[in-house]
This record gives sequence, structure tokens and C-alpha cells, in this order.
Amino acid sequence: MLRIHIGSITEKGLNLEEREDSAALPLLGAVTGDEGIDFTRPIQVRIHATLTGQTVLIHGTAESEVRIPCSRCLEPFDMKMETGFSGTAVPEVPSMIDPAAVDDIELFADDMDVILYSGDSIDLRDEIAQQILMALPFKPLCRDACKGLCNRCGVNLNKTACQCRPQDENGPFAVLKTRAFPKK
Ligand SMILES: [Zn+2]
Ligand SMILES: [Zn+2]
Repeated sequence: MLRIHIGSITEKGLNLEEREDSAALPLLGAVTGDEGIDFTRPIQVRIHATLTGQTVLIHGTAESEVRIPCSRCLEPFDMKMETGFSGTAVPEVPSMIDPAAVDDIELFADDMDVILYSGDSIDLRDEIAQQILMALPFKPLCRDACKGLCNRCGVNLNKTACQCRPQDENGPFAVLKTRAFPKK
């Protein structure tokens, strides 16, 4: 569900622990489809929420495991994903008041980690999905020493060696090489 019911937050706060399938977080659909990322485990979410007036302070963690293509050799590999998040949830302002004031609040909501809620519950799916997306590495590597693909024949150099010479005599770097190491 990943939803906090305001009424269930006691004076001591509320602790929630939930397991959610990645498919339940619509924002994650984009990466699972286009970028070939798979969540191989449900997302484990822990949330602590406290209430002050109508403002809800939320801290939490989300963890899972993803199968993600290596940015060098393109082989999918499994990696653990863990992220923390925190935010402040405030009630959505009814649009019948000054529209300029609403714009201000929305700007504010974009800048700070402010979540707007309406009614008596806070939907955390988008907030948590965004934090998960930011926690995914920009250039995932299956291992630090991944050798990647040969840029001539395309073989995965982690698995096989190829016959391509690292520097072709007639390649674009041949000139640089003779300059750097002049023959005597
Ligand atoms: Zn790799
Ligand atoms: Zn090669």
C-alpha cells in the first residue's frame, strides 16, 4: 500500500514495515521497461512518521535487489539497492483560495521534499519510487575491473580474449604512439 493513514499516527509516531512488489510503484515502470532493469525482490520499506498539527514528518528506508545491465559489458547482474528518504507531508491547499498562493506551495513542494496529501492518508508510492530511481547507479558496473566489450569485434572481454590488437598500426592513435615513444 505504501500509504500512511494520518489517524493511525499516535503521539509516539507510527512505524510501518511493508513489502511491496515493484509493479505497485508506477514510476518504476519506466526503468523496468525501457532500461532493462528488473527488481528481483519485493521492495522492503520501513517508515517512521510523526505528526505535528497537520504536518507529517516521514523518514524511511527502502531496499531491494535489482538486475541491471552493466554499463561496460552490457551483461545483466544483480546488485543490492538501498536508500533512505525523508520528507514532510502537508495537506494540499484547496484550489479555491488564491491561485498565486497555490503556485508558491507547488514550487516549494518541488524544491524541498514536501509531499502534498489530501484527505486522511498520504500516498508515498511516488516519493519512494523517486528515491529508488535516484539510488540506482548512473553507470552500473558488474565488477570494478569489468573489461567491457572489445570496441572492434564486440566480444565480452570478461569471458573471452579476442585477436584484435589493442592498437592497430594504422589506427588513429598510431601517430600519437610514435610521437610519445620516438624510435632512436
Ligand atoms: Zn561488466
Ligand atoms: Zn576484439
